[in-house]
Amino acid sequence: SKKVLIIGAGGVGSVVAHKCAMNRDVFGEICLASRRKSSCDKIAEQIDSEIHTAQVDADNTSETVALIKDFQPDLVLNVALPYQDLAIMDACLETGTDYLDTANYEPRDEAKFEYHWQWAYHDRFKEAGIMALLGSGFDPGVTNIFTAYAKKHHFDTIDTLDIIDCNAGDHGKAFATNFNPEINIREVTANGRYFQNGEWKETPPLSEHRVFDFPDGIGPKDMYLMYHEEMESLTKNFPDIKRMRFWMTFGQQYLTHLKVLENVGMTRIDPVIYNGQEIIPLQFLKAVLPDPGSLGESTKGRTCIGVVADGHKNGERKHYYLYNICDHEACFAEVNSQAISYTTGVPAMIGAKMMLTDQWKGKGVFNVEEFDPDPFMEQLNVQGLPWVESWLDKKPEPLV
Ligand code: NDP
Repeated sequence: SKKVLIIGAGGVGSVVAHKCAMNRDVFGEICLASRRKSSCDKIAEQIDSEIHTAQVDADNTSETVALIKDFQPDLVLNVALPYQDLAIMDACLETGTDYLDTANYEPRDEAKFEYHWQWAYHDRFKEAGIMALLGSGFDPGVTNIFTAYAKKHHFDTIDTLDIIDCNAGDHGKAFATNFNPEINIREVTANGRYFQNGEWKETPPLSEHRVFDFPDGIGPKDMYLMYHEEMESLTKNFPDIKRMRFWMTFGQQYLTHLKVLENVGMTRIDPVIYNGQEIIPLQFLKAVLPDPGSLGESTKGRTCIGVVADGHKNGERKHYYLYNICDHEACFAEVNSQAISYTTGVPAMIGAKMMLTDQWKGKGVFNVEEFDPDPFMEQLNVQGLPWVESWLDKKPEPLV
């Protein structure tokens, strides 16, 4: 069996550590490392079998290199923050170790959501004979694999693809974000963008709105067009798709709070001077908001994330919806986390399993949809994220 080094002991890191420990046939030894060792030790205490813990500042490549040399992992699974991606990839290059993450690199001073920095490592990873798997969370991650699965099994061509992400959960707080608030708010306050006939079209933040009737009793929810990073690789890897959009649901209460925070300048990511010290308003805001990791206990309801594809098979027009429903309370009962961390951490573990068992192999930097979706889809059903596929008579009205 193999050795995995998990970097980042937040909401997602906790789920990854729990899930790797439930798959000991693959993950023989596990080390969980983070900026604060105490974050790792708290998680290790909840896990029945032994996992190692360590302190590392992953912004500092030489610290990560030293830890890799000491623990000798077969794979580094990065679930720290997007800011650390490149520094950790450098450490993997220096030590010849495979790499996996769930979010694209972001510079701290710009919210860009672009893969080019990481794709630029392809030749160096190839030459070093190692593999990097990018974006193996839910979205990006499972939504890319859902698209690859739809194409492989049900379509000759996909004409339009809508990724729809619904969190119908309620954490009982006036305002909180389901994952790292800094990353979440940067994403939500950015311009919307979608792909049509080979071009990207911009929309003002959260200006495009539809009501979608979600399945299995979740019912109608307000959803908003956003840019989301998986569209960059999906439009490249599935060039036949003529229109691709991403939608996420938000409640009115969340949006009202967000608007106020934005209007008063609390979501700014440029430094301001306070008491003679530079602070970033959004980072300060993060410090006063509820810790997403603490929401698990109180969150009820379900998430429903999937893809709606419209296209042709054997000359026939087809409308197809593939989704997962995940229950916040069930996740908490299983691994002490809410569904947002769970739906990210489980696919990160599965991606690592695909690599460590050689079911997904390559030298260079890859996105998940470049590999055979079938073994990954099988694992989703086994590891707690079962999926449902349905054929529709026509494209749902809100997505026309
Ligand atoms: P959290 O903020 O809960 O956790 C981040 C963790 O990273 C913390 O434990 C923190 O350390 C650690 N960390 C931060 N900086 C460093 C550093 N310099 N060196 C080492 N460790 C560091 O975030 P989440 O768990 O919610 O998210 C983790 C990742 O998953 C993010 O990149 C996020 O964008 C991504 N994500 C992806 C999704 C998808 O579907 N693809 C969905 C949700 C999230 P400490 O506690 O020790 O201070």
